[in-house]
This record gives sequence, structure tokens and C-alpha cells, in this order.
Amino acid sequence: MFTPPFESYWDSSIMTVPNRRWGTSCLVILLVLMAGCAGGGRGAEERLETDGRTSPSRTVFAYEEIIIGRTPGNRAISCRLLGDGPEVVLIMATIHGNEPAGTPLVEALHVHLRDHPEPVAGRTIMLIPVANPDGFSNRTRTNARGVDLNRNFPAGNFQSRKRNGVQPLSEPESQALHDLILSRRPARIVSIHQPLSCVDYDGPARELARAMSAASDLPLRKLGGMPGSLGSWAGEDLGIPIITVELPGGASRLSQDELWQRYGEMLLVAITGDRMP
Ligand SMILES: [Zn+2]
Repeated sequence: MFTPPFESYWDSSIMTVPNRRWGTSCLVILLVLMAGCAGGGRGAEERLETDGRTSPSRTVFAYEEIIIGRTPGNRAISCRLLGDGPEVVLIMATIHGNEPAGTPLVEALHVHLRDHPEPVAGRTIMLIPVANPDGFSNRTRTNARGVDLNRNFPAGNFQSRKRNGVQPLSEPESQALHDLILSRRPARIVSIHQPLSCVDYDGPARELARAMSAASDLPLRKLGGMPGSLGSWAGEDLGIPIITVELPGGASRLSQDELWQRYGEMLLVAITGDRMP
């Protein structure tokens, strides 16, 4: 069973970054050593020996880490910005806290892009490893106030209920994602869930979903827009191509490397669009 290894990381190393500051003043240069700690990749010394002599710029992977909001449980919602190109791609995991396999998969994507940064060129890759930190910590679908964040967006099909939130964006987590999406206008969004074992989509994303399905063992399925979901709001209402990746339930038992081997290519397809990486 996957055990969340990130709690101390969230709560210690990144709390000093000011909220919602996009300028270079808050650029956080994190050495490879730190990325290695976060992702379990190769160590800094090895990288310096193998890459440093021929390509010094690749020995240090610079990215910006921003805190886009705080949860009712006072946990930070972290977003990493890789690159600064004009095409923005958002890849997020664990908006349902009891569907945690996407979190190490996003960590594996970060490690891969650190070592193979070509897909970052011309793009800004936004990674949110844990969109629901309270639920992730408590192993609950909802946030700490018992609201399903993926029913709390201001979609036309929003349904006011206690579990959905009595009004759209009643929760700081959904508000933070909403503000991020409106301010950065991603060209594509991927949100990773479990356990339905398919690639689903909302908005104009059918071809991308096909390509991602072809790059994995997950079949393409159109599940239909859920009320107040991120897919309904961003995909159907805003017209942003959005993919809902549903990993199998058993993905929680896979290691980060195993997750990458099975689903990494699919995420690279998502970054590059319907072109193969
Ligand atoms: Zn889910």
C-alpha cells in the first residue's frame, strides 16, 4: 500500500514562498539534490559527474514553486512551474485524497523532466502533486470540511449540496485551482484519479485522450460530466481540453518507478499534445 511520503516535505521546505507571487523575485532555485529528495531520482553527485562536464546548465534544474492556497487544515497547496514558455500545461493529482497514486506519478514526471527537459522547451509545465492535501493526509475523498472538491467548481451543472459545497468555490482548494487556471490559462489539463482504469475527457480533448490511451494500457471511456466537476467547468464551460486519468485501484501498490514505467509515456503525450514525445 502506498504510504504518503511527502508530509514533511510539504510542511518544511516550501513554506517560505510568498503566496501568488509570479515574478522572478520568488524564483526558487532548488538544487538537484533537493529534487532528488523529492522524487527519489539519482543523486546530485552522480549527475554532476555525468552531466556537469558537458552541459553545466543541466546539472541544476531550476523551477519555481508557488503556494496557490491553503487548506482548511492549514496545509499548503503547492504548484511547481517548470520552464517559462508560452504554452501552459497543468498536470495535477489527488484532488480526491483517497486516490493517491497520481501523486508519486507526478513526482516521477518531475524527475523525468529534470533528467530529460526537452518537452519543457516552449512550455510552462505546472505540476500539482497533491490538489487536496487534507484529504491526502487523512486518506479521505473530501477535504477536511467534508466537501468533494471535484464537485465544487462553478460549472453550469453545479448542484448545491453539503457534500458538494453549498455554493461554487466555497472551498479554498477549489478556489485556488480556479484562480490558477484563469490566470495561467493552460492549453491542456490532466487530473489524475483512481480507480476506474480509463482515460476520460471533457471539452475538446477527444484526440488527446485517444493519444494518451494509446500510450498506456488504459482504455478511452467517456464517463460524462459530473456536476460541479473540474472537467465540467474547465472542459465543458471554458473549452479547455481536460483529461481525467483514472488509474486502477491497484496503482496504489505500485512504486514510483513502476508507475512511471506504466503511465509515464501517457503523461509525456499530454505535455506535447497529440504529437508523440
Ligand atoms: Zn476521483
